[in-house]
Amino acid sequence: MPRFGMVIDTRKCVGCQDCVVACQAENDVPHGYCRDWITTEVRGTFPQLSMEIRTERCNHCDNPPCVSCCPTGASHVEDFGRTVQVTANKCIGCKACIAACPYDARYVHPKGYVDKCTFCLHRVKDALDPACVSVCPTHCMYFGDLDDAKSVINGLLRTRKHHTLLPEAGTKPRIFYLT
Ligand code: SF4
Ligand code: SF4
Ligand code: SF4
Repeated sequence: MPRFGMVIDTRKCVGCQDCVVACQAENDVPHGYCRDWITTEVRGTFPQLSMEIRTERCNHCDNPPCVSCCPTGASHVEDFGRTVQVTANKCIGCKACIAACPYDARYVHPKGYVDKCTFCLHRVKDALDPACVSVCPTHCMYFGDLDDAKSVINGLLRTRKHHTLLPEAGTKPRIFYLT
């Protein structure tokens, strides 16, 4: 069984928001909410400054606190791809998972359940890339199996410098940012 992850090349991301718009359309994300978003981070001191532009979403963590805190089992690890998912009709909207996620990756859907990035499993099951990955005009996102040593994402992780977000949180995120 694969263990899905993403590698995102921050050198290629131009912050155009196409991934955000594609996700909203693909997944019927209600107006005013989003499953992915753009962050910019400036590093260094003047005049030695650099800016990283990142497209962010749920990290489908290997050690997800949003799953362990969920009282109903709505938040769970799906067998297919070992991804973190929410079963809407099991969710009571208690927001424990929102408090537990250090990445602010979840929101309460107007219908009362918690929603977040699914890694577009409905597309991946049809051998398609997630919507955000497929529309990126600079091809800065790569989706694949972290347990396949020959996958494109593992090749990138072997050859390029990379980091994850808030590694100190102990969540073991599965989205890696190339620098
Ligand atoms: Fe859970 Fe947040 Fe990790 Fe996603 S990023 S698996 S919502 S802790
Ligand atoms: Fe579980 Fe829903 Fe509560 Fe989140 S809001 S912890 S998914 S029951
Ligand atoms: Fe949205 Fe799918 Fe991309 Fe997740 S993988 S951010 S659900 S388009």
